[in-house]
Amino acid sequence: MNNFYNHKAFNDLNPSQKEAVKNLEGPLLVLSGAGTGKTRVLTARLANLLYSNNTKPWNILAVTFTNKAAKEMRVRLETLIGPSANSVWLGTFHSIAARILRENAEIVGLGSNYTIITPDDQVRLLKQIMLDDEIDIKKFTPKSMSNLIGKWKDKGYKPDDLKKSNIDYFANGKAINVYKTYQMRLITLNSTDFGDLLLHNLTIFSKHPDILTQYHSKLSYFLVDEYQDTNTIQYLWLKLLADKTKNICCVGDDDQSIYGWRGAQVGNILRFEKDYPLAKVIKLEENYRSTGRILEAANSIIINNKERLGKNLKTSSKDGDKIDLISVWDGMEEAKKTSSEIENLYSAGFRHDQMAVLVRAGHQTRYFEERFVDIGIPYKVIGAKFYERMEIRDALAYLRVVQQPNDDLALERIINIPKRGLGTNTTSMIHSYAKKNNISFFSASQELLMTDELRPNVKRTLLNLINQFLDWNNQNKEIAHTDLALKVLEESGYIAHWQNEKTIDGEGRLENLKELINAMSGFDNLSGFLEHISLVMDGDNTADAGEVSLMTLHAAKGLEFDVVFLPGWEEGLFPSQRSIDELGLAGLEEERRLAYVGITRAKQRLFITFAANRQIHGLWQGSIPSRFISELPRHILNENIEGNIGADASSYNQIDFDLSTKNASYGPGFLRAKQNGINGINVYKKTQINNNILNSNIEFVNGQRVFHQKFGMGRIMSSDGDKLNINFDKAGEKKVVSSFVKLID
Ligand code: ATP
Ligand code: MG
Repeated sequence: MNNFYNHKAFNDLNPSQKEAVKNLEGPLLVLSGAGTGKTRVLTARLANLLYSNNTKPWNILAVTFTNKAAKEMRVRLETLIGPSANSVWLGTFHSIAARILRENAEIVGLGSNYTIITPDDQVRLLKQIMLDDEIDIKKFTPKSMSNLIGKWKDKGYKPDDLKKSNIDYFANGKAINVYKTYQMRLITLNSTDFGDLLLHNLTIFSKHPDILTQYHSKLSYFLVDEYQDTNTIQYLWLKLLADKTKNICCVGDDDQSIYGWRGAQVGNILRFEKDYPLAKVIKLEENYRSTGRILEAANSIIINNKERLGKNLKTSSKDGDKIDLISVWDGMEEAKKTSSEIENLYSAGFRHDQMAVLVRAGHQTRYFEERFVDIGIPYKVIGAKFYERMEIRDALAYLRVVQQPNDDLALERIINIPKRGLGTNTTSMIHSYAKKNNISFFSASQELLMTDELRPNVKRTLLNLINQFLDWNNQNKEIAHTDLALKVLEESGYIAHWQNEKTIDGEGRLENLKELINAMSGFDNLSGFLEHISLVMDGDNTADAGEVSLMTLHAAKGLEFDVVFLPGWEEGLFPSQRSIDELGLAGLEEERRLAYVGITRAKQRLFITFAANRQIHGLWQGSIPSRFISELPRHILNENIEGNIGADASSYNQIDFDLSTKNASYGPGFLRAKQNGINGINVYKKTQINNNILNSNIEFVNGQRVFHQKFGMGRIMSSDGDKLNINFDKAGEKKVVSSFVKLID
């Protein structure tokens, strides 16, 4: 191959980027701010490895944060090195771990055709186990158990690694047992959940050092993007694999660590030099993505964080347009204004797929979707998954059973869809037989068919279904997987089931089923497709050309758009009250990093909006502008603050969230208060964010009106330290913690 150093992709880089690309041996850390070309460097370095070394594509393992990023990197790589890009081990932690697990499944008791269960299957399975264990699932929900297990897995804890005393509070000390049973059930079902993928990998490596050695001799170069968001188990996994050659290149930005709530440890990136004492560290300072003003906005927000290494971004590009700061009355108006900006920009030549609306909370997308549908702006919600629709889940359940008959959760889902007379009586009988004999639902059905336990017509139907599955399973090796899928959906009566509906809804679902089969054609076989589905279900989806992207800030990491809209910049929503309540200052700083990520996605235009009123849990609540707004320098803003909302256009800048000294003058609803001619002052008395707890210094007075997230509006009856007795309008009298209520004007 030619020398990469003659290639344009190399020559276009700046000197520090070149240095990172040339440095192929030994540990290397590229630690720098957003848009400085980290991902570009990683891709170029990958190409360089393949050009200038004896390295083969399969010697390289490259980890990206999302499937979408992996796809983009593969495409870029292909243009640089051609089709051999396909043999690089390139994917998310999950997808690479899934592959390693498939190659060694038997060691942990799984078959290589194991399936990855979906988060809702996970909850269903846990519910069964918890009910069997007589746990009060109203008090300790299967969902929270599933979160707890997820957290343990993120840390690399298997049931035996847990100390009982630490979690006695949950399910009266039964949590570890539930975890244990759950793991055993998954093995019986020949299934894993997401967290298991890496956990099983670690088990394999620790039980069989010879297998680890095999990977050591295969994989000699490691590249990791977004390293600041690796969690403990990912860190351990990577460290084990890279341990032999230590040719590991990680790129990341401590200011963009936004997955702390999912167990990400920003400490991993900060201790790189300790882990690899010979590490070279390269910093990139020039931002190539955004205009000067956008960068100034990002810098002036992130500078308020205490926990950071501290770096400033520079750019040689123009100042660009000012940042539009727009106030609106409510979410509906926010969607209206946003969509008319989108229309203007579109007329001015910006493409729809170069625009994005990035929200803090998933539910914020609703108004935008409704509005976009109304006026015909093409859009795509990234992360609201196609694969979560009912008909798609049903179809996938059929295919999972075809692929792997022991997939109980899938079989139980569709055994009576469409209705064929195999109702709950039958299924619970099969279920308890399966449990007693510790066999799968499918095997239990087969065994029961050999008895007279079932009524004749039930027996006939079940026999028919089981035979169909066996038949389809045989054909899986013979006919194209897309043909098989269509056959399964037709012969099972599933397609007819929606055809008979004869409603628009039914038609839409049939369209979606067609799209599903289309999507399958991009894969070699059913198993590849199902694995892909399980993995993408966890996160991202790809935006098609020509559509405005609507997604959460979290999902936008690593991406860039010409135009970015950041709605909902209000206290409580962004920064999220929950993050602050749960994690205090650390939570606030993570929110601020999220703001930094959002702003730095924009190349040319940035719009920030905030509403005076929000509906929360069906109740209207006055809101105050986000403190992040007051951190933006005024001279870069183009303010569009409507007089009828904030009488004084500069009001948001007077809010003082300084941690110690001054009093804040405005509280919830101040905008509305102003509109009504009432002075907003004294709504919050002495609001200070002290000791990491919001509301800690508010003086509560009997008779005041308050708002509580769960119980809604109410009036303070009496107080006792930080506990308040409140008479709620709907929920009646309750005792609540003062930091969970907000004063209302
Ligand atoms: P993030 O932190 O958001 O993930 P990043 O550091 O990974 O950002 P990239 O996405 O690699 O940054 O690059 C940002 C943009 O700048 C891309 O459009 C990229 O093509 C461009 N870019 C990077 N380096 C250069 C360069 N030397 N010359 C011109 N453009 C560049
Ligand atoms: Mg990047």
